[in-house]
Amino acid sequence: MKHLIDLTDRSCDQWTKMGSIENPTPIREKNLTTQIAVIGGGMAGICAAVAAARNGVKVILVQDRAVLGGNASSEIRVIVHGVTKLKSGLPERETGILEEILLLNRFYNEQHSFTVWDHVLYDFVTRESNITLMLNTQCIRSITKDSKIESVLCWQLATETLIRINAEQFIDCSGDGLMAATAGALYRTGREGKDEFNEKYAPDAPDGWQMGATILLSSKDMGKSMPYKSPPFTIKFDAEKTHPDRRIIPFVEGFWWVEVGSKNDIIADAEVDMHRLMGFAYGVWDYVKNSGKFPEADTFALDWVGSLPGRRESRRFIGDYILSEPDQINHKIHDDAVAFGGWPLDEHNPGGIENLAQPPSFWHEHFDKVYQIPYKSLYSKNITNLSFAGRNVSQTHVALSSSRVMGTCAVMGQAVGTAASLCIKKGVSPRTIANKHVIELQEQLMRDDAYIPERPAKDPLDLARTANNISASSTLSGDVNLLIDGVSRDELGEIHHWQSKGLDAEVIFEWNNPIAISSVEIKCDTNVKKNIMMLKNTRENQSYTTIIPPELIKSISLELKIDGIWQNYGTQNDNQRRLIKFNFDNKEITAFKIKAHDTYGAENIKLFEVRCYNK
Ligand SMILES: Cc1cc2nc3c(=O)[nH]c(=O)nc-3n(C[C@H](O)[C@H](O)[C@H](O)COP(=O)(O)OP(=O)(O)OC[C@H]3O[C@@H](n4cnc5c(N)ncnc54)[C@H](O)[C@@H]3O)c2cc1C
Repeated sequence: MKHLIDLTDRSCDQWTKMGSIENPTPIREKNLTTQIAVIGGGMAGICAAVAAARNGVKVILVQDRAVLGGNASSEIRVIVHGVTKLKSGLPERETGILEEILLLNRFYNEQHSFTVWDHVLYDFVTRESNITLMLNTQCIRSITKDSKIESVLCWQLATETLIRINAEQFIDCSGDGLMAATAGALYRTGREGKDEFNEKYAPDAPDGWQMGATILLSSKDMGKSMPYKSPPFTIKFDAEKTHPDRRIIPFVEGFWWVEVGSKNDIIADAEVDMHRLMGFAYGVWDYVKNSGKFPEADTFALDWVGSLPGRRESRRFIGDYILSEPDQINHKIHDDAVAFGGWPLDEHNPGGIENLAQPPSFWHEHFDKVYQIPYKSLYSKNITNLSFAGRNVSQTHVALSSSRVMGTCAVMGQAVGTAASLCIKKGVSPRTIANKHVIELQEQLMRDDAYIPERPAKDPLDLARTANNISASSTLSGDVNLLIDGVSRDELGEIHHWQSKGLDAEVIFEWNNPIAISSVEIKCDTNVKKNIMMLKNTRENQSYTTIIPPELIKSISLELKIDGIWQNYGTQNDNQRRLIKFNFDNKEITAFKIKAHDTYGAENIKLFEVRCYNK
């Protein structure tokens, strides 16, 4: 076999064309140039591409499937968790770009349909004029010179086209990281030994074990008895031998523990494992239906079964820093923190469904508060223009057991997308951003509604902090001066908000001398202590709501005081965002007034932050 097949060789084509076609040729090649290429359109890749695009650079987002979302897409149907399982039982939602996506989904997908969710993501990405989205396009290799990627080669399935993408910065958000691996970026797979990072949950000696892939399924109540006969490829589920943590109920949502991992080359094994997973998935469903132990399942039938296994672990690329378990459990403070996590240390057992004696996950520890993720874990140690976000970042196997959830991958994505745009603007590498410009990166992220724990914003460009007086029409809780304290959510018993008494509330920022501004940016309440992601089995309870967060501001307007006269500078009547922006031509003002008229149900207005800028 040739080492590299020439994908453009179409010399065997015998094309007889009818009628007239201009310049017909079966050889289809494209050479594209952009500023940033993002490979992989899961939650991390979407957020990376959107962050970079919104920060003013041109992006090509390459996704090998027909839909966006990665494991969260309708093809796999994993729930976007993030910091959703703190010890308190309450979440600490991520905010930023992910928050905008989840809110958008509330507006356009009240029915919680996964296929509609795919297109909410499609809508979200295609709204960005700086993004060129390439679906059905797989990045197959990188072309690298002097430790720098020059371009990547992609194969577009639907058009039989070989596409070369030249870019200044490359971001691998593909999970498996084929692009980064073929660039020669250093990576590891498997489990570190205990001693290397002082990890109490690591094995004594390193080994190759990687958590497995899963095929999910869902079922629905047909309202009548539904007998079931399983197909011949079914692998019997040996329920007698299984650890009780492999819970069957609720069976509606499928079984995340139907998992096949590997201690060898998990990517090479993927196709074989897919067939085994089909057998295992149907085996568990056969047990549900035919063991006689679940009479309540009599009226249930399979509604959807995945064909594409969701992956949990393969390559982890090595950055300037490797995030490890002690960083997470000791809540280490990183000067270069750009993201955060807090999902428990959810390490699955070696063996997956073939190791029935052990619990499917060890759930080593739940966190009482979130931990920081440093930027130095998000770019390559040896390839100078390569970053990554998602499960493939620079971290140990145990650290991955917490950080791999998609909300956390998404905030990493926003961080690297923003950082890559700074690289372009300054003409520098990610490493230089880490060493010289990380404060600027952090400030931009927080301006864009990212949250960095233990790192209040202090953006020198934010003119709201220079106001001589801040007042409010009424105050039920908090303080209007907290709107400039740099923390845009309440934290563990610390209040960082202002809340009005009733609706139609006003906040006024005043200056003794005129200042010029061109934008006012407001962070309102969406109740980050409740989950709002897509579920397969939706429910309303203490930690989850199925509706548009009632706290979200629906209608809001802005007035500017120019030459002593109040003038309206915009009204938004159907707001869908936590970060609300008013942009206008530069104006000399002595005050601005935010008039928050209405919410989606809450009786008061709650704000967390107000900023204003002169460009
Ligand atoms: C069954 C299961 C249950 C899980 N449970 C949860 C859960 O409840 N909540 C949670 O948040 N997380 C869960 N996880 C973990 C989580 O889904 C993954 O860790 C996460 O999806 C990783 O995100 P990512 O963006 O790095 O990769 P992905 O979500 O895999 O996205 C990467 C995308 O890149 C594409 N891609 C790959 N290679 C290329 C290429 N060469 N060119 C172009 N595109 C490419 C892929 O098709 C994919 O769409 C679960 C995982 C599994 C498998």
